[in-house]
This record gives sequence, C-alpha cells and structure tokens, in this order.
Amino acid sequence: MPEPLDSVAVKPATPGTRPATHEVIVTRGLLRRYRMGDAEILALTGVDLTIDRGEYVAIMGPSGSGKSTLMNVIGCLDQADEGEYWLNGQLVSVMSERRLAGIRNREIGFVFQNFNLLHRATALHNVELPLIYAGIGRRERQERAQESLERVGLSDRMLHRPAELSGGQRQRVAIARALVTGPSILLADEPTGALDSATAAEIMQLFEELHRQGNTLIMVTHDSEVAAHAARQVNLKDGRIEADTSRAEAREDVDHVPEHV
Ligand code: ADP
Ligand code: MG
Repeated sequence: MPEPLDSVAVKPATPGTRPATHEVIVTRGLLRRYRMGDAEILALTGVDLTIDRGEYVAIMGPSGSGKSTLMNVIGCLDQADEGEYWLNGQLVSVMSERRLAGIRNREIGFVFQNFNLLHRATALHNVELPLIYAGIGRRERQERAQESLERVGLSDRMLHRPAELSGGQRQRVAIARALVTGPSILLADEPTGALDSATAAEIMQLFEELHRQGNTLIMVTHDSEVAAHAARQVNLKDGRIEADTSRAEAREDVDHVPEHV
C-alpha cells in the first residue's frame, strides 16, 4: 500500500527505554524535515520532551519555530523522520498510518483556534461525533455528550447550532468534543486566537479547571499572557527546545520554605 511521501521515516533500529507510567509523552531526538524543491527545511532538529500525566504545558516560540510541526507529531497527525515518540506507553513513532489513526482517536482530544465545528449540527451532535467514529451506540453517546457539555457549562445550549452560539460557547463545544472520549491528552493550538480578551480569559479559566481535575493539557500559543496560565512553558526556537520552565516549581520554592525537611 503506498504511503504518503512525507511519512517515509527513518525509524531507529532499537528504541530507548520504555517511559515510566506517569510519563504520558516522551520524545527523544525528534527530527522532522520538509523538502521544498531542492531545499530541505529542518522543522524539528532534535526535540527531547517529557510530559507527565496531569501537567499543563504551554508550547511557545516565534512563527516558524516548529510549534505546529511538534503539535502535529504529538497529536499523531504526522510522524517525525527520526527519533522516538512514546504516547501513554506506546511507541507511536514506529506505527503504521492506520494504527496511528486509531491511537489519535483514542488518546488525543484536539482544540483548534477556529473551533472546527460542523455548522449544520447541534452542539450535542458535534460532541457526539468522536463517539460515532468510535462505534459507540446512540444511547451511551448521547449520555456522554451531555455530560461533557455539562462539564464545560453548556447544559442549556445543547440543541443550539454553532451560528446560534458566541465564540466562547463555540470553543466550549469544541472542548467538550475533545474531552468526550476521555483522551490521555488535550492538545490545543492557539485556543484563544479567535476570541476577544474577556472570552479568552473564560476559556483559560476552564482550562485551569480541567487541569485541576487531572487532565493533561498541552497548548500551543504565541501569546505570553495566555501561556502564563500554564504551569510549565516550553520555548521552541529553530526547531529545538530553547527553554523549559516550570511555574509550579518556582512558586513552590517561594511558598514552601523547606524548614520541615
Ligand atoms: P510554527 O507553528 O512555530 O509557526 P511550523 O511548525 O509551522 O512553525 O514550521 C516550522 C518550519 O517548517 C518553518 O520554517 C516552516 O516554513 C516549515 N514548514 C512547516 N510546514 C511545512 C510544509 N508542509 N512544507 C514545507 N515546510 C514546512
Ligand atoms: Mg503554527
């Protein structure tokens, strides 16, 4: 079966050690190149990144630094040319396109800048969609979609279509859709990019709540104010990690003077 040209990958012969169970994402030496005519562009040049279950991470960096490329690999929409990627204990960097699609549906919840909702469908139906793809029956589907919409505070808007909702409400529907399958990670690419600042703040509040409930959140943003909501910031530059700082650690140092140690 022919594979898309850009997914022909040089796979490592022997993978490194299996990540610990609390490590939901481990990448080692991720490299992604694009060919543009005769030129080769290195979009990722050796990314080593470990994210623990329950973390809230912002991926930052200037335009062209590789944020979207990294998100696409982490989200199993694309595969790196070299290096390893482990998601939830599974070595996805050696998987076929077909297995990758299965992993993507089970493990990843996506939130996009422009919501990506079906315009003709109600909020409820939009949230049901991933469960339809997962082959779940109608009754359970509706129950789970309703619960998910309740979690994001939209129980009174279930039968509205996107055009009958505000931008913030549309993004809530998208978040409910991302959560409904119970994914290992929630991946958000500029989730507040299309929202005014008050609505953006509401969505950030919702993310913090989801983080407190134990969800693993990874958000790409070029907005440092938005990124400041995350507990950890990973900065990309020229396809590699330039800085990786954890706000929780910094705060703990201040809050808990280790007198009891
Ligand atoms: P960011 O999301 O941080 O703006 P990207 O991951 O989109 O960065 O891009 C990283 C680099 O890879 C850029 O130099 C970009 O031009 C290049 N690139 C991204 N996608 C493609 C593609 N499909 N074909 C060729 N070059 C690409
Ligand atoms: Mg981008």
